[in-house]
Amino acid sequence: MGALPTNTVIAVIGAGTMGAGIAQVAAKAGHSVLLYDAVAGAAQQGIERTAAGLQKLVQRNKISSADCEALLSRMQPCDAIEDLAPAKLVIEAIVERLEVKQQLFSQLENICSADTIFASNTSSISITAIGAALSRPQHLLGMHFFNPAPVMKLVEVISGVATDAGIAQQLFDTAAAWGKKPVLARSTPGFIVNRVARPFYAEALRVLEEGGADVATIDAIVRESGGFRMGPFELMDLIGHDVNYAVTNSVFDAYFQDPRFKPSLLQQELVNAGYLGRKSGRGFYHYG
Ligand code: NAD
Repeated sequence: MGALPTNTVIAVIGAGTMGAGIAQVAAKAGHSVLLYDAVAGAAQQGIERTAAGLQKLVQRNKISSADCEALLSRMQPCDAIEDLAPAKLVIEAIVERLEVKQQLFSQLENICSADTIFASNTSSISITAIGAALSRPQHLLGMHFFNPAPVMKLVEVISGVATDAGIAQQLFDTAAAWGKKPVLARSTPGFIVNRVARPFYAEALRVLEEGGADVATIDAIVRESGGFRMGPFELMDLIGHDVNYAVTNSVFDAYFQDPRFKPSLLQQELVNAGYLGRKSGRGFYHYG
């Protein structure tokens, strides 16, 4: 089937940490991208953040100003979800809650044409379960980008029980055409990376809770001796504690409360306090 042609209109829903970056990736590949967020003004702000990031790349001669302008001209903020009707691929990057994602995709089934592909950027929620709420679950997949989406190469293309194998292959080919390194996976809790990464966060949080070492020390050891690019606390601050905590809860529940995946009370308290990491200016570290 091959990749979606570049004249295919793409919609991205949710203009937060991930959505704006995903929209940038699709626009860079030549697509017209419609960006929508439930919060008024958020899509415009997402595009402004993208513009500011690209401007830095222009200053460092990593991209020409003509390419930067062309890319930005392909990103369009939308005020109403009905404006997404022309999209043939919709990528959702909203809050990590099953019922909210189900409701969004059901609404989209009545707005977009019957051949539209629906993709969720969920980190952990079952694609099969999201699809169960739809009349065309064969058109629903996971398309899981990593943070920051314009930089990280890996994309997990995830099939639920009802997903059409040909559409999964088409999304795989599309991600490859966008310069990514896609991998096909089946829908299991946390998929590949977020399953394997759970102990990375959980054990670091346990060491901290037991008073073994402080945040900066654990991060430094993991970075400098472990060879990781970021320590676990730096990475959780980048991801956002609301998102990371929701992912842990979702994997914990999906594995029938297996204690290996037990969420951390410390992280729950950060979420309760609104200390969500970089995006709120404070998490384990202070920003700005
Ligand atoms: P975020 O909180 O930064 O942004 C979410 C955005 O979605 C917000 O702007 C919010 O206003 C909007 N939104 C919420 N509900 C909506 C709805 N019903 N309709 C339209 N817009 C809505 O979240 P994020 O970190 O970008 O995460 C989004 C998704 O991507 C989640 O499913 C998350 O698990 C996944 N994800 C996150 C990361 C990460 O590192 N943060 C990495 C990979 C995948």
